[in-house]
Amino acid sequence: MAMEKLKRGEEFLYLNDKECGLTGLTVDIGMEDIKEASARLSRFAPFIAKVFPETAAAAGIIESELMAIPEMKVALTNAYGEVAPGTLLLKMDSHLPIAGSIKARGGIYEVLKHAEEIALERGLIHPGDHYEKLAEAEARELFSKYKIQVGSTGNLGLSIGIASAAVGFKVIVHMSADARQWKKDLLRSHGVEVIEYQDDYSKAVEEGRKLSDEDPTSYFIDDENSKDLFMGYAVAALRLGTQLEEQKIKVDGEHPLFVYLPCGVGGAPGGITFGLKEIFGEHVHCFFIEPIAAPCMTLGMASGLHNEISVKDIGLSGQTHADGLAVGRASGFVGKVMEPLLAGCFTMADGSLYDYMRLLLSSEEVFIEPSAAASFEGVVKFCKYPEMKTYLQKHNLEDKMDNASHIAWATGGVLVPAEIQEEYIRTKI
Ligand SMILES: *Cc1c(COP(=O)(O)O)cnc(C)c1O
Repeated sequence: MAMEKLKRGEEFLYLNDKECGLTGLTVDIGMEDIKEASARLSRFAPFIAKVFPETAAAAGIIESELMAIPEMKVALTNAYGEVAPGTLLLKMDSHLPIAGSIKARGGIYEVLKHAEEIALERGLIHPGDHYEKLAEAEARELFSKYKIQVGSTGNLGLSIGIASAAVGFKVIVHMSADARQWKKDLLRSHGVEVIEYQDDYSKAVEEGRKLSDEDPTSYFIDDENSKDLFMGYAVAALRLGTQLEEQKIKVDGEHPLFVYLPCGVGGAPGGITFGLKEIFGEHVHCFFIEPIAAPCMTLGMASGLHNEISVKDIGLSGQTHADGLAVGRASGFVGKVMEPLLAGCFTMADGSLYDYMRLLLSSEEVFIEPSAAASFEGVVKFCKYPEMKTYLQKHNLEDKMDNASHIAWATGGVLVPAEIQEEYIRTKI
């Protein structure tokens, strides 16, 4: 069934029938890993505050706001009819400092972890030291002897490129054909080397990995398999837990939380889902959103083949206006972790991306990029698909939906140049 809908490029809701919660995890990861990542980011906070002055006010903690968006709920209801019942919130990773996208979480984390390893190994710092030291000339001199490489559709490259250059590393970003010109220009302005490919994301990763492996001073950030990236993303869940508490938003047996995450290779939405499941268990319900032309995670889950199948294998192009989600093959590591945890996936056509984006702008005066606007598909289609009713019944949630909270995870936007924003706002398909 799901395979047929995927092949036909239909919009639909895929329910994950293997969902059974954390007890079903077959990969050896847990809360300790998230806490370790969180502690590392705290150690680096004084360094981050120094190197990225825009984070100084938050004492070097890179975090985004969680904001109620009641006007957007009204606007969506007016445009589409009944939407997800309960409170609608926006998680504004679109406005994260440094990288302007969700990639500021995983990407920067892995670069810092690598810098820490080198600095410890070379005796530049010792456990317990103040990490501000790593912003001094001696440390930069050391880091300049090392290279970081990464393959990207755009935003991961931005995050790794800007962070690595700020730390002092040499950095090469391998960009797939989907990557937007302004992202390449912005990176070059930071002194990052950008190599462009006429092929898709998988090719950019493959070439980047090969070049990096040939160079002993080079470290490859592997979006398809990296546990570090994944844990950097997972820290978001700890922080969200605190924000929900501060805003007195309950998540428990009577107050379910639904989270809608746009998905590319799976690392960002997967890390966050893993973290949220560790914190809220069965009370949180995470759904991914993917373009109908590049539904790699849905395909990997529905077929059970994870990274052993590409959207091209079933005749899909992989081409989408959602450049951050233009991935044909999901991460195998993330797919396996998601098997017992993910509630399901919505696939969607590109046209609605721009409509949701415009509605958020007109109702709440918040601009997010089209890939990020995908998150609203879950809110809009909540009452439309009979599969969702099945899901609510299965989880005994039907009479609790007035108490529900829904978080649309806005994954990027603030770095989009004004003229490109205008172009997006005009786009109708
Ligand atoms: C990268 C990205 C995603 C998805 O993250 P993955 O780790 O590739 O799944 C979603 N939205 C935006 C804007 C992104 O840049």
